[in-house]
Amino acid sequence: MSKALFFNIPATGHVNPSLPLVKELLTRGEDVCYFNVEAFRRKIEGAGIPFVPYPVDVDFSSHDGGNPIMAMTHIAAYGERLLPPLLEIVRAEQPDYVIYDSMTPWGKQVGKILGVPAICSCTILLVHSQNSNVIPRQLLTKQMSMAGIDKSLIALWRYAQIHLRLRRGYGVGLPFFPNFFANPGDMTLVYTSRLFQPGGDLLDDTFRFVGPSIALRPHDDEFPFAHLNGGPVIYVSLGTIFNNRPDFFRQCIAAFGGADYRVVLSVGETLDIDALGAIPENVLVRRFVPQLEVLERTDLFLTHGGMNSTSESLWHGVPMLVFPQIGDQFFVAHRVGELGAGIALDADLISADYLRAQAERVLGDASYRESAARLQGSLRAAGGYVTAADEVLRFVGQR
Ligand code: UDP
Repeated sequence: MSKALFFNIPATGHVNPSLPLVKELLTRGEDVCYFNVEAFRRKIEGAGIPFVPYPVDVDFSSHDGGNPIMAMTHIAAYGERLLPPLLEIVRAEQPDYVIYDSMTPWGKQVGKILGVPAICSCTILLVHSQNSNVIPRQLLTKQMSMAGIDKSLIALWRYAQIHLRLRRGYGVGLPFFPNFFANPGDMTLVYTSRLFQPGGDLLDDTFRFVGPSIALRPHDDEFPFAHLNGGPVIYVSLGTIFNNRPDFFRQCIAAFGGADYRVVLSVGETLDIDALGAIPENVLVRRFVPQLEVLERTDLFLTHGGMNSTSESLWHGVPMLVFPQIGDQFFVAHRVGELGAGIALDADLISADYLRAQAERVLGDASYRESAARLQGSLRAAGGYVTAADEVLRFVGQR
């Protein structure tokens, strides 16, 4: 039995895929503690995993206008405050190895400072200098310009300062942009297939494509599954973070309401549901839905292109319309379109007519479903969290 520490950020999309892996490691006799902020205690302990709160709390919900440089600087600044008290805790734990989410630079730093193997858990679509030339340049430029170039430059300067201070203080700095979000480790687990990953063949063997880490979730007795009977099911969700878009959800209601579709809108925790106006009988509005169970019965998923939602959709062979909001969602949307499993929507064209026309296009052309089925095969063959645990134990065993 080895002792491992797992580090994550407070974000559902990053925590969800990690839980089945950590559970599997515990089942196989590894001793694993999971670090996150207090707000995630219930979720992690609820999965039967020993939880340790970070000694410095943080809220990453100020989203920096979608600008990746501001986001990475925000996270790096938190990491700089966190590292000294965190090191005191982890030194006492004496881990044999660490596993860190790709967006926790402190996880990799802890591994380096303690001199133990550091395994990266990458829940996003991987953009790294080894494969970044396959990502269309206009997608990168679009992101940079989302909050203004002046703010980006100031943030980049701050990022460089943090990097230098960490280097001086601990001998470990920060990854060079664009590697911040992927931040590979001695080994990197990527929760997709090499087929779905753009430039998958360009990435070396330290990247292990284990497929989506999807475990059964408890059945939701409250959800009215009968609503899904009697017509093509369109499921709409912008995920759990960038979802306060009443304008968009109103357009969905105008596009699909009153027609033969059975529609589910997952609108998130913050949206004012009254602002959606009258809800037609064929549209069900919920703050959160049992997504895996809904996808089992879905014909078309209108998604923001979060990596988990996209993988879960493909896992069920469901084609998509992708309306990206931020970050790697633009890359995911582009990739889904490129591989024929759906359409990347153009944000400038969003209207009820446009949404209806694109939905009809995907539902009326079997090739989208066939492409989704091909990707479904590649994801299921990749092995998921069981293979991820095999990879961790193999890697640690070799060391
Ligand atoms: N999710 C869910 N029900 C909902 C909305 C989201 O279960 O109504 C889950 C979904 O299955 C996925 C995660 O929340 O595992 C969202 O992760 P993703 O990476 O797609 O998006 P994010 O929320 O990080 O933007």
